Amino acid sequence: MELFLALIILAFIILLNLRWTWWRFSKKGLPVLIYHKIGYPPKNSKLKSLWVKPETFEKQVKYLNKHGYTTVLFSDILADFKGEKALPEKPALITFDDGYENNYTYAYKILKKLNAKGNIFVVYNTIGKANVWHNTNSEPWINMASIAMLKEMQDSGIIEFGAHTMNHPDLLKLPADMISWEIKESKKQLETALQTEICAFAYPYGAGAYNNKVRDKALEAGFTFDFSFKQGKTFWPWDRNSFPIDRLFIKGDENNFDLYLHLTRGSSRLI
Ligand SMILES: [Zn+2]
Repeated sequence: MELFLALIILAFIILLNLRWTWWRFSKKGLPVLIYHKIGYPPKNSKLKSLWVKPETFEKQVKYLNKHGYTTVLFSDILADFKGEKALPEKPALITFDDGYENNYTYAYKILKKLNAKGNIFVVYNTIGKANVWHNTNSEPWINMASIAMLKEMQDSGIIEFGAHTMNHPDLLKLPADMISWEIKESKKQLETALQTEICAFAYPYGAGAYNNKVRDKALEAGFTFDFSFKQGKTFWPWDRNSFPIDRLFIKGDENNFDLYLHLTRGSSRLI
């Protein structure tokens, strides 16, 4: 009986250590957080981890502020990359993929309130529409931010934008000419719509970020930065020739201890 109890406790401890990887060595680099939807998941959603509640997001931004992080924009990392203006001492880059309306409704308002900054990767053809690339078996479509919302956020100086292709395809499954078009055209169209240079690109699903055939197309398209999300933190100064900039995937069920582990260890869990 006692042995059984000891085994249960041991299993519990092992599980905790897989879920919160506090034991990892701390890792240097630029912390780049990736979010998707800020809000409340619809009932029966099978994608709950992509939703971060507004109150959780607010706590996370407060945590960054309280612990001396300065949230920066794409233009800030561009200025640093070009050697024009160094980043602040403890920078963090907040990014959102896809361009949902809830980024405007919740995230933008929270960032504004807390004097912080964020960056959104937009799927050009879905601006003002819905996430039509997405399979509705796991969750219904939701609204994407309109062009008026994007412009308001841009004019505030709180949010900057990156490109996330025209239609959110899995780039690994497209022929070379289509890969090129999805990437190049998204830069061109977004620059025309927002009247500013778009220096950053994120691969839909992270697909192709580590495939030279795809990655070369993103670099050829004229983006300075390309972003993935699989590996954790990226060393800064960044070696553009080697790998994309990696991001810390913030999931819906995570708390500020997870955030601490992301920021210091480059991830918060093994499972
Ligand atoms: Zn995406």
